[in-house]
Amino acid sequence: MRLYIICPDCDRKVYLAVTARNRHELMRKWSYEFNIETHPGRIYKYNVDKVRAERSGRSTGTGALVGGLVGLIGGPIGVAAGTGIGSLWGYNKDMDEQAQVDYFNSIWVK
Ligand SMILES: [Zn+2]
Repeated sequence: MRLYIICPDCDRKVYLAVTARNRHELMRKWSYEFNIETHPGRIYKYNVDKVRAERSGRSTGTGALVGGLVGLIGGPIGVAAGTGIGSLWGYNKDMDEQAQVDYFNSIWVK
């Protein structure tokens, strides 16, 4: 999971170099309001309620790859089994991260 704000100049996501499970935790780290330099010399004031979370990547693909490599050691049958287990593991990881994202985005400080 990664956290971002939207740049008011170009509407692009600016990812924050901080981790937090929810906005209250982010507030404890950065206080309610904080400044972000979205571009050199362009500093904007944000607050934690403007921060949004999103999933950080395609872990389903990674899970399948890892499972496939592990299965490869065991021969052709191992490859099939490994890929299946890896996909399942990646799927579960995706679900967990989606739950974390929903949790972060659903709780507001103010
Ligand atoms: Zn921008």
